[in-house]
Amino acid sequence: MYDVIIIGKGPAGISTALYTQRANLSTLVIGKDGGALEKTEKIENYYGFPNGISGRQLIENGEEQAKNLGISIIEEEVLEISFDITFKIITTKNEYESKVVVIATGVNRVILPIQGLKEYEGKGISYCAICDGFFFRGKDVAVLGNGNYAIHEIEQLLPIVNSVTMLTNGKKAPELRSDKIKINEKEIREFRGDTTVKEISFKDDTTVPMSGIFIAEGTASSIDFARKLGARIENQKILVDERMQTNIQGLYAVGDCTGGLLQIAKAVGEGAIARNRNY
Ligand SMILES: Cc1cc2nc3c(=O)[nH]c(=O)nc-3n(C[C@H](O)[C@H](O)[C@H](O)COP(=O)(O)OP(=O)(O)OC[C@H]3O[C@@H](n4cnc5c(N)ncnc54)[C@H](O)[C@@H]3O)c2cc1C
Repeated sequence: MYDVIIIGKGPAGISTALYTQRANLSTLVIGKDGGALEKTEKIENYYGFPNGISGRQLIENGEEQAKNLGISIIEEEVLEISFDITFKIITTKNEYESKVVVIATGVNRVILPIQGLKEYEGKGISYCAICDGFFFRGKDVAVLGNGNYAIHEIEQLLPIVNSVTMLTNGKKAPELRSDKIKINEKEIREFRGDTTVKEISFKDDTTVPMSGIFIAEGTASSIDFARKLGARIENQKILVDERMQTNIQGLYAVGDCTGGLLQIAKAVGEGAIARNRNY
């Protein structure tokens, strides 16, 4: 059991870890890749680099600094965070436990260009299998996504629903084991319905009736984690107090996922603030 588990090894996550480790709190950082910085050619507006620095180099520097302090950083994809007295973090490989969780997973910049998606959110389209699966008991539902996160959501739904279709939206489907899972690899054009979603139309002009659609594209995002734990969200940002704590005791959020200025300086600053003497 760790005192603090930080999800995300970008500037917000590593900055938080530097402070928690130095406060003598056992700290684990879990991140799946380099995050937003990986896409950044050159950074010229961050303190202390007179000639700028590449995103990749800044990530490497941050990780090296953390490791020099004895902080454990592991590269795994987090699928779910749940809470029952302590926090349980489920990754593609392991399960971890902690007293405090800090979400530092950045923002999801991918917007799915599918007509009807926004219109039917909360009206048959859901972002949380564990929260909303029960509303679709005995029905045929679909999960949009083809990665580990989509498979995790499908597994949550299988005991409740009649069947699950994995919608890969033009991508290749992974190998799946249950005969309750159908695969549809066609590109999606639109989600249609009346007061609730009723069918999916594809770019080849075919349609499939569907009672519910769960969005699990890519990897689980900061918003997915917050939503499942009951943390307050507004305009796709996690709401925090002046100590970076959400409305859930022991659940903190830092960096791009809390909104405002999407910059390294703000992410690093919030990591420093999240170091809380009351952990
Ligand atoms: C192209 C581009 C250029 C930019 N240029 C600048 C610039 O010049 N100056 C500047 O100040 N800012 C710049 N930014 C913004 C800056 O990169 C971000 O503000 C900053 O990286 C935010 O830090 P973060 O730690 O909150 O998130 P990120 O850096 O995005 O880190 C998120 C972390 O969460 C991890 N993660 C996410 N989901 C999961 C999961 N399910 N399981 C496990 N780990 C997960 C990722 O692997 C990553 O480690 C730029 C951004 C982009 C995209």
